[in-house]
Amino acid sequence: MSLQEEVKRNLRDVQDFPKPGILFKDITPLLSNAPVRDRVVEDIVGYFSSFKPGAIAAVEARGFIFGALLAQRLHVPFIPIRKAGKLPYQTLRASYELEYGTAEIEMHIDAVKKDTKVLLHDDVLATGGTAAAAGRLIQQAGGRLCGFSFIIDLSFLGGQSRIQKEFEVPVHSVAAF
Ligand code: AMP
Repeated sequence: MSLQEEVKRNLRDVQDFPKPGILFKDITPLLSNAPVRDRVVEDIVGYFSSFKPGAIAAVEARGFIFGALLAQRLHVPFIPIRKAGKLPYQTLRASYELEYGTAEIEMHIDAVKKDTKVLLHDDVLATGGTAAAAGRLIQQAGGRLCGFSFIIDLSFLGGQSRIQKEFEVPVHSVAAF
């Protein structure tokens, strides 16, 4: 079975979470399935190995899980990007549009060494707003984005073309809907 099919079999759809109208893609069954989870890590590593990422950045909170696995597998630094107000030291901040209103994410000002090639990871690509804001933080800090990695792409929302257009780097998702 292809990895994409394996991943899809290990996701749980939860209707109306966290609010009515959202079909939430729950990755916890995938985390429990160690062989498939580890194949996901190897798939992402294989896709980006020729780019030689020098750091993995990931978005709170579910992005941290595979982000940390990737950083350990590649022996490179891990950079946490968090919702505004959570990081203790001085931060860079980026805002992005939500369906209703705006949201803000932050990264420590010294998290990225200048010219480091950074691979940005999150669990789900939806509209691409979160990933684009995170990408801008990396660039603002002097990092060079070498790609975006997701477990799941909700491709009907158009996030992939949106971030490809803005950043002109590869966008890889293990499973697309
Ligand atoms: P967006 O900024 O629209 O691309 O949304 C991406 C962020 O929202 C990611 O951090 C995801 O974890 C989360 N997200 C959006 N839609 C879903 C969904 N249907 N299931 C799970 N997480 C989602």
